[in-house]
Amino acid sequence: MTKRVLDNHLQFQQSHDHRAEADRQNKDDDLMTEEHELPMVEIFETVEGEGTRAGYLTTFIRLFHCNLRCVWCDTQYSYAPQKPVFYATIDQIVKKVKYLGNPYICLTGGEPLIHGNQAVQLLLALAKLEQIKDIHIETNGAIALQPFVAARNSDILMQQKVRFIMDFKLKGSGEREKMLLENLELLEHQDEIKFVVDVS
Ligand code: SF4
Repeated sequence: MTKRVLDNHLQFQQSHDHRAEADRQNKDDDLMTEEHELPMVEIFETVEGEGTRAGYLTTFIRLFHCNLRCVWCDTQYSYAPQKPVFYATIDQIVKKVKYLGNPYICLTGGEPLIHGNQAVQLLLALAKLEQIKDIHIETNGAIALQPFVAARNSDILMQQKVRFIMDFKLKGSGEREKMLLENLELLEHQDEIKFVVDVS
């Protein structure tokens, strides 16, 4: 969850008028709108800089909202009191991913799995795309992985393409106590664990 915006001009264009957007932004605690749109920060492409897919041109989908407040967070624009940049349906997100054309996707935030079943539906839709080889999900260790692992296990394309990158928060984050240790037992061979270490 440390990616920078390198290609702002690729950002998804909001499809609704300003008045509707203002109404939505007043609903600070709503994770979804009535139209089942996801609150978004950005969709862009850049070279992955972390993990086993480092070096690959990747489409980043950054969802809004996070359940943690790490002291060194560098994406504070992805949760309250900031506001979503725009809202998008799953179909709109998939359309943008197809347009960009990259075989690698990073689903990030914020905390993307905070969106529960909508996150699962998005993953199912992305996994169906023939162009997609890999969907890695940056998750913060404080969301129960079990439902998402079960969803992966229930779909052959999800099994082939979806990987969890568990960003386990150490003491320096200020959020160590919120880590769900049982998540670690759910990770499989294709998944990864990330630790941010403060060496100052
Ligand atoms: S998990 Fe921590 S680092 Fe990641 S977006 Fe949330 S507050 Fe920031």
